[in-house]
Amino acid sequence: MIVDMDIDLSDKTALVTGASRGIGKAIAMALAERGAFVCLTARDVKKLNSVVKEIEKKGGKAFYISTDVTKESDIEALFEKVASKTKKIDILINNAGSDIVKDLVDLESKDYDRVFDLNVKSMFLICQKALELMIPEKSGHIINISSVQGIKAYKKHSLYAASKHAVMGLTKAIAVETQENNIRVSVILPGGVDTDFIKIVRPDLDRKILIRPEDIAKTVLYFLILSPQAMVDEIYIRRSNSTPF
Ligand code: NDP
Repeated sequence: MIVDMDIDLSDKTALVTGASRGIGKAIAMALAERGAFVCLTARDVKKLNSVVKEIEKKGGKAFYISTDVTKESDIEALFEKVASKTKKIDILINNAGSDIVKDLVDLESKDYDRVFDLNVKSMFLICQKALELMIPEKSGHIINISSVQGIKAYKKHSLYAASKHAVMGLTKAIAVETQENNIRVSVILPGGVDTDFIKIVRPDLDRKILIRPEDIAKTVLYFLILSPQAMVDEIYIRRSNSTPF
């Protein structure tokens, strides 16, 4: 439970992708603990249901809509359901994402499609749909989850690095295009966070030195507690034992 980020989100509706586990779950819990009505999406219905139950047990309000964000028809259905249930989205967290760990020369074109469909195309389509709800309200905050690989690259993670660089470009483009409509668009670039994902893609990293998912949730809250006069575009959050700056 995060106790040091005092913000009342009880009039806010949030949509969090990739909320069945890991970073997305921590963000969904942190938003719900502060009163937001949270819509969780991912594919695993059992896990989504258990996160919703966990939120409700703590007195929060949440529901889930199972969605494969790589399917455009699923995204259409998600927004039809969200619009009928909540009418608006105040906070959108684009978090669903993954990696394929292979040497560059071994990658196939279907690997490219898998990584980019999940990490970039889904974000593009979901932002478009969310903006249909946010722009008429002249309000909303979109927070995209990139990675330290949004500005650097590591061996065997080339498609991931390329896709997270694309997330940076997409975030900047949406930010400049929607600023006149009072939409706030930010991006977080985390280093290694202790989730299922990191165990698979960086088995070399000791769990003890990994960032906690709750640290990323706190970073989200930090964006949200700022006054309308202040804006932070991006936060790069690295493991404390990695090289500074
Ligand atoms: P996890 O693998 O633990 O969680 C990924 C989430 O995305 C799950 O909820 C998963 O749910 C969902 N997801 C995956 N594929 C799809 C899909 N096709 N449709 C809908 N949902 C999907 O990863 P993390 O929590 O670690 O990562 C979350 C984000 O943070 C990612 O974008 C990742 O790139 C980024 N990140 C992570 C870092 C880390 O070290 N962990 C570091 C930097 C960035 P389900 O399987 O139920 O669909």
